[in-house]
Amino acid sequence: MRYLVSRAIVIHEMTPRRKRALYTGRYVPITNRPRYELKKFVNAMNGIFPPEQVLGEDESKALQRRHAETPTILHEFYRVWRLSGPDAINHQCKLWREINEYWANMATQLVGVPGAGAAIRHNGRPGQTPRKEALRLFIEFLLNPECDRLAGPCARCGKYYIRGSVRNKLYCSRSCGTRSTALAATRKRRDNEHADKLRRAQKAADKWIEHGHTRLDWKTWVTRKEPDITSKFLTRAVNNGELQSPLEDKKL
Ligand SMILES: [Zn+2]
Repeated sequence: MRYLVSRAIVIHEMTPRRKRALYTGRYVPITNRPRYELKKFVNAMNGIFPPEQVLGEDESKALQRRHAETPTILHEFYRVWRLSGPDAINHQCKLWREINEYWANMATQLVGVPGAGAAIRHNGRPGQTPRKEALRLFIEFLLNPECDRLAGPCARCGKYYIRGSVRNKLYCSRSCGTRSTALAATRKRRDNEHADKLRRAQKAADKWIEHGHTRLDWKTWVTRKEPDITSKFLTRAVNNGELQSPLEDKKL
């Protein structure tokens, strides 16, 4: 059972000419544990679900299907929601029609809560199909006051995550960020080393032509001048078109 807690925030809408406040409605957060609920939703996005009790083979099959297919549907919902911007709910797209339809058929009830207030109760039972379950979870997510903290997928590991700060935009964690940077640095260093080898190989090969009268073939010549360069490296570089074979020069 979940509560729509009775702590409500009245919003004011300013008309552009007369800056008069108009009472247009109330924002009622779905939960008084937004971070906890958000974490549960992120887990579902990443395919992690809390254990559920199932009775019989049919329920067990339905559960397996839900766990297998719901995350992909949630990724699609999330993508559409992100793309539609802050006025998302007013867009007349397919997703919003589907959400509204689901919401309209959801049984809700006004109940008393400890402290003498009231709350809206709705059923927290998983949906029968993966799509219905995705809709149920997504509506809960949209009602979460911290829903804009959801981010992802992480540029390195592909997981969805709760954004801690605005700076943390690409990676789910510090470790993913630093690993990714370290990887880029290694790649750059290797590229530089490769380019340097090619430069030295070309220079030595040119010398082979200038020298003219040697019994050594050009590859052996180059590998003797530049001991860290192998004959295999030269063959590959010529085949890749990164290096010009001096034999081609001779033919011209
Ligand atoms: Zn990551």
